[in-house]
Amino acid sequence: MNPFAQLDHQFVWHPFTQMRDWLRTEPIVIASGQGAWLTDVHGRKYLDANSSIWTNLHGHQHPKINAAINRQLKRIAHSSALGFANEPASALAEQLVTAAQITARQSHQPKPQPRPPPARDRLAKVFFSDDGSTALEVALKLAYEYTRRARGPKTKPKFLSLTGAYHGDTIGAVSLGHIDMFHKSFGGMLFQTDQVMAPYCYRCPFNRARPERADARKYRQCHWECTGLVAKKFAAQKRRGNPYAAFVYEPLMQGAAGMIPQPSGWLEQVTDLARAHGALLIADEVMTGFGRTGLTCHVTDEALTAAVAEPSQAKLFASTRTGIQPDFLCLAKGLTGGYLPMAATLTTQRVFDAFLGKYEEFKTFFHGHSFTGNQLGAAAGLASLELLRSAASVHARAQLQQTLQQELKSLWSLPHVGDIRQVGLVVGIELVKNWQTRAPYTLRERAGIRVCEAMARRGVLTRSIGSVIVLMPPYCTTAKEARQMVGALAEAVEEVLG
Ligand code: PMP
Repeated sequence: MNPFAQLDHQFVWHPFTQMRDWLRTEPIVIASGQGAWLTDVHGRKYLDANSSIWTNLHGHQHPKINAAINRQLKRIAHSSALGFANEPASALAEQLVTAAQITARQSHQPKPQPRPPPARDRLAKVFFSDDGSTALEVALKLAYEYTRRARGPKTKPKFLSLTGAYHGDTIGAVSLGHIDMFHKSFGGMLFQTDQVMAPYCYRCPFNRARPERADARKYRQCHWECTGLVAKKFAAQKRRGNPYAAFVYEPLMQGAAGMIPQPSGWLEQVTDLARAHGALLIADEVMTGFGRTGLTCHVTDEALTAAVAEPSQAKLFASTRTGIQPDFLCLAKGLTGGYLPMAATLTTQRVFDAFLGKYEEFKTFFHGHSFTGNQLGAAAGLASLELLRSAASVHARAQLQQTLQQELKSLWSLPHVGDIRQVGLVVGIELVKNWQTRAPYTLRERAGIRVCEAMARRGVLTRSIGSVIVLMPPYCTTAKEARQMVGALAEAVEEVLG
């Protein structure tokens, strides 16, 4: 066994990993990366088909991000945000706020366009932290305290989030999530939040359509019962005299819940309901941020040409793409191009103002971390934003989205592929025992894990969520590499599931 694999086995405890299984085989020890490729200590090469757990944007060893970090390193790596400002974090905050401005709602509903929000309700302030969980923790605490200040100190702010949601693994973030497996372990430490049905069209009990060889959103037959349930939930909580303080959601696609995309119009309906009931909106864009959800829903040749003609207009967030302005926008993962742990929670001037007061009033937001506003991370973030705004990146992203659209079609010929869900540059492929009945694999069958292992043997690395295989390639992935990812997936499904 490689000496580092040995050291790993002896000393390292891996996240979300059954270590008994882990210790059975020699782990892949990553030694280096270049573009969409990872190389292990034995010199074997793998395509990074989930962008190193959804973090990497432009590829590994990107010369521009490397150079930005190196430049910053020659000045300073880190100084405290407690008591001091710094150059790259200030500049990054300004650029994030600019990128997060809503211009107009891209509504699919024949509704009048709402006016842009008043100045105090636009995203205007950035609170930096370290990872996705802490970005959510910040939003949660701010929304909690803001609500108590607005409604009175006796208020007990209640939060509503979606079934199956994952918002991180710190205690507040786990409380917001609804994954039973995690809740069982830590139930006693959590606070209670409410959940409401997520629009999982493929397995929706209200969808009367028989399975077809297409994305379930496209052929669903329903009467929007899911948004009806959201409306009921808000109304019931209002009747209890304590309307929800905030509604927490991942816009356009729920990630760790199983890559669950929202049918067009869902997000508009539920966020309108939340607003009508006075709830704050907390958009968790830890996964969907920084171009992940693509430039438009479906890349046609015309859309591609238009996007490339005006790269600076390309929307970076699902919120800005849909034109739905949240009160809190939580970002992490891709913020630094996937280089360094850094997160940001953006909020409005109105929320910020609620924390202003005389020192002795103690209205301060009492929260922060040692590495808040870290210079190396901020420098990487600035370089990554510059890349995202470049015509070359916009073009590459649009082309990659189109290539995936095209290549994924071949998977419909596999009887164990039940649903293929693509939103921009995120894809979830749900494996089933029988596509005609949607019969699911049980967790014990480890269908997703076994398929990923077979993909790794073919030089493609990704992780499954239950029986859903995730493809989320770095934006530098070429058409050939994308084909290789989809091809390895098809072969692996055939090898493992027959
Ligand atoms: N929110 C979402 C939507 C996520 O996908 C994740 C991580 N997968 C998190 C929050 C937590 O992020 P982190 O792992 O960086 O704490």
